[in-house]
Amino acid sequence: MHFNELNLSQEIINAVEELGFSEMTEIQQESIPLLMQGADVVGRSNTGTGKTAAFGIPAVESITDADRKSVAVLILCPTRELAMQACEEIRKFAKYKRIVKTSAVYGGASMERQIMELKRGANIVIGTPGRIMDHIRRRTLKLDKLRTVILDEADEMLNMGFREDIESILSEVPEERQTVLFSATMPPEILAITEKYQHEPVQIKIKSAQKTVESIQQFYFMVAMGRKTDALKLLLAAYSPEAAMVFCNTKKMVDELTEELVKSGIHAAGLHGDMKQAQRTQVMNSFKSKATAVLVATDVAARGIDVSGIDAVFNYDIPQDNEYYIHRIGRTGRAGRDGAAYTLVTSRRQQYELKDIARYTRAEITELPLPDKSDIISVRKEEIIKEIVEMPPVNNKYDDITDKLASIGIDYREIALRLINERLEKEISGLPEFDMPKPLKKGRKSDAKTVKIDISIGRNKKIAPNFILGALVDATGMSGQDFGKIDIFDNHTTVEIPEAETDYILESTNPMKINGNKVEIKLYNGNSGSEKQSRRTEKSFKPDRRKAAYGNRRKADIFGDYTPNRRKRTKKRH
Ligand code: ADP
Ligand code: MG
Repeated sequence: MHFNELNLSQEIINAVEELGFSEMTEIQQESIPLLMQGADVVGRSNTGTGKTAAFGIPAVESITDADRKSVAVLILCPTRELAMQACEEIRKFAKYKRIVKTSAVYGGASMERQIMELKRGANIVIGTPGRIMDHIRRRTLKLDKLRTVILDEADEMLNMGFREDIESILSEVPEERQTVLFSATMPPEILAITEKYQHEPVQIKIKSAQKTVESIQQFYFMVAMGRKTDALKLLLAAYSPEAAMVFCNTKKMVDELTEELVKSGIHAAGLHGDMKQAQRTQVMNSFKSKATAVLVATDVAARGIDVSGIDAVFNYDIPQDNEYYIHRIGRTGRAGRDGAAYTLVTSRRQQYELKDIARYTRAEITELPLPDKSDIISVRKEEIIKEIVEMPPVNNKYDDITDKLASIGIDYREIALRLINERLEKEISGLPEFDMPKPLKKGRKSDAKTVKIDISIGRNKKIAPNFILGALVDATGMSGQDFGKIDIFDNHTTVEIPEAETDYILESTNPMKINGNKVEIKLYNGNSGSEKQSRRTEKSFKPDRRKAAYGNRRKADIFGDYTPNRRKRTKKRH
């Protein structure tokens, strides 16, 4: 359904056309007519489905001459970025409707300027709940003529502890009003707000808009704990995205990771809630203009951020919530374009968490081995070819150099090869290496230091060494040869492991099941040495090496889906 099939004013139709919107999204189709009739609405649809227009267009449409001096529509958003973004988009819808005056009101910015703007007669105010409350208390924001209040990303606002502010705002605005709520999820707290503050709300639920998610290819990589940053650097080198977002679970991690990436020459910048507003705006602008290629952010700071043309999203940390995963990866593949999402997984447990996310989002998340230098070189080769083909022809300004070199036996081909080689070597020389851990050689003392782990299962459960080894290989992705002697006792088992991998192995194996029994694994402290050993076992089991995450890989699998040519994106909409 096209926008001009609704009863919209010509001013709005023109503005929407200029934005390049043709068909309405489902949530727009369903909510715009209802909102224009004045109904209370609860809207649920995924990120990236155009909710801003769904409530923004009716808001702009509702403004008349009578609203010249008063606030008619109030829109609450969870973060400053979202408030600014919604404000910008609504301004675009209002481009040809001069009486509409918008004002964005959020914390961390000058109160005076906001007061000035409000005084100048804003009729649509968009802001964060805290700052809006501030203005209400100072009486710099008067809501006695308010007709519509809209809660955007309501669940997130509650997550962020804005419940009290929201409730006070809702109880201070005129009772005769339209209350609209958009939320990605419907936890009980949202239903409580709906019940208390909405009047016969119409529920609109757009079935998990797989539309966004389907165009996003999703992968994960098994990475040893402590190697995540290296893995990310490698992935960034392999996929060389023009614009990528990297998600961390904490502000501290955002800072640390950004610093690390910048140190290795990557154009990265961090974004989180502790940063000053001016700094955040600067980071966002730099990312939007593609001067910053990699934006490292927390979930909250990045919520709803809509930057077009993000090639890839990297989950440096596994998201703490299934919904977060959808929100994160929804940053790419916007408006039907292709995108890719990559998640770093450091343990079997995280692998289960990701499986759970996949089930929940009904998505397929495929494991890939980390690329190695030769993979990266093969990508770079194609890029270099393309780059040279696209270079303008050069005049013969430097003939003398090539002639001179030729005269001493270095011909043109050799010159070109040397330059290309230097360039490629420079690009890959700084890349991290991911080698297989040194195997513990059976039968003779190896150089690598070893320790023992203790597994809470033994002979009493009729356990055989190959069960133990199989489970360990499966859980860690390491090779069977990485594990040393296995001693099975009555009710526990010890296994020799490389000391360097202790943390990784402990992390990867909790929880772990062996032959259907849940087991606990800890570092062995050796005090059951007096215990009668039932039998000394030598490994007889050669595990399937293909299972090892760092084993041989098929290159086609890695880059088949993401060659440089495919990174060419469709033209921007505006
Ligand atoms: P949400 O709030 O649901 O996450 P947004 O309102 O941020 O989504 O919209 C996501 C992107 O889609 C924005 O860039 C917006 O301009 C664009 N968009 C919205 N509606 C349409 C439409 N009908 N056709 C094309 N693009 C649209
Ligand atoms: Mg939104």
